[in-house]
Amino acid sequence: MSRFLPLARRSCPLDNRSRGLCAAATGIALCLAVATPAADQNGAMRELVGRHLVLLTDLPPSTEVDELPAVFDRAVPQWADYFQVDPQRVDGWQLRGYLMFDRERFRAAGRLPDDLPPFQHGYQRGDELWLNEQPTAYYRRHLLLHEGTHGFMNAFLGGCGPPWYMEGVAELLATHRWQTQRLELGYFPRSKEEVPYWGRIKIIQNERAAGRTMTLAEVLRYDHQAHQQLAPYAWCWAAAALLDGDPRFQARFRNLRHDVGDRSPEFSQRFLERFRDDAPQLLEQWQLMAAEIDYGYDVARAAIEYQPARPLPAEGATIELRADRGWQSTGLVLEPSAAYRLAASGRYQVADQPRSWWCEPQGVTIQYVQGRPLGMLLAAVREEPPLPHTTSLASPQPVGREAALRPERAGVLFLRINEHPRGLADNAGTLRVLVTRSAERPSAATDPD
Ligand SMILES: [Zn+2]
Repeated sequence: MSRFLPLARRSCPLDNRSRGLCAAATGIALCLAVATPAADQNGAMRELVGRHLVLLTDLPPSTEVDELPAVFDRAVPQWADYFQVDPQRVDGWQLRGYLMFDRERFRAAGRLPDDLPPFQHGYQRGDELWLNEQPTAYYRRHLLLHEGTHGFMNAFLGGCGPPWYMEGVAELLATHRWQTQRLELGYFPRSKEEVPYWGRIKIIQNERAAGRTMTLAEVLRYDHQAHQQLAPYAWCWAAAALLDGDPRFQARFRNLRHDVGDRSPEFSQRFLERFRDDAPQLLEQWQLMAAEIDYGYDVARAAIEYQPARPLPAEGATIELRADRGWQSTGLVLEPSAAYRLAASGRYQVADQPRSWWCEPQGVTIQYVQGRPLGMLLAAVREEPPLPHTTSLASPQPVGREAALRPERAGVLFLRINEHPRGLADNAGTLRVLVTRSAERPSAATDPD
């Protein structure tokens, strides 16, 4: 007898898919050859019992396998907190899971029903979940937490919403850090070594390099077949990471938990209507994130700061710029018929380990980011309204201490310092940037680019 809400049948499509770029053909066979320990020769199944998960497996004992119920038990209160479910409701909740090295053994034992669709990684239905053995301990846990998120949402929210939200929020919460028995869900990986075999960031970088950047609208339109490929998991994770990690968007995104009974496109339509006032900012932030995403990308600090547009006063204007933030609007509208001069000063911190690294607007040449000195002042003149498919903030111009600027089009001047996407948090201090109109339109030879 189920102790929780009746569950709708659903499929988790973390299945039937190629593993991206290198393992598409070799797939699971590669996994088995590389990392999976030999199955128990006696054919014995072991039952690993936790409070919220009973896991049946044919894998031999190991710390990483045997601690999975404990990992799951630490996830449950975090899911309850994230989805604002009363902890008392989840008290007696339990799923049954199957972690399979030899699927036929489970089929013969009646644990892998014939009516499940074929799946390569994992599947969740009702109060059960199935996991195929994975090549790394990280990805095995990730898969358990992904399917567990589906199970939790089905049990306590009554559904998972349409594909982008169902898979995006499962990927968001499954991406984790597990250290010294502490579990952190919704973790943004700082290096690929933290998340072996996960690969979501690499997929986005590769898709972008191949000219296949998804717009946010396209991600929200994924249908129920889309997740037979791996790339949609990466794009849905990125969308969830942005919407959940950016303070401007987080409340609206988290409110979607009330709406997950609807799997139709109207779910997304209603969601987008909540962005009537700031849809351009959301779409521009997505474009910028798709262009710059990397391990440790600081979603909150990368949030573009906007200002009301205003003309440049005749005497010029002095802007104060924070070193620990991404793009910041000056609000100043620059005209293509004019030339401008930017002059920057200030001393600010660009790292704090092993001690403070101090920097001035020309940057420090000890370290380069995107081919330019770390900490160097950058500028972009951003069209208003922004271009529909790519923001000019993704193609900045170097300024340093001083530069002439001749905009090709009218737009608002944005500034930031050159910094790795993961490097904003340990910055401190400000720069002052004086923006003036030049007497003469500069020749092309004096342009910074
Ligand atoms: Zn899924």
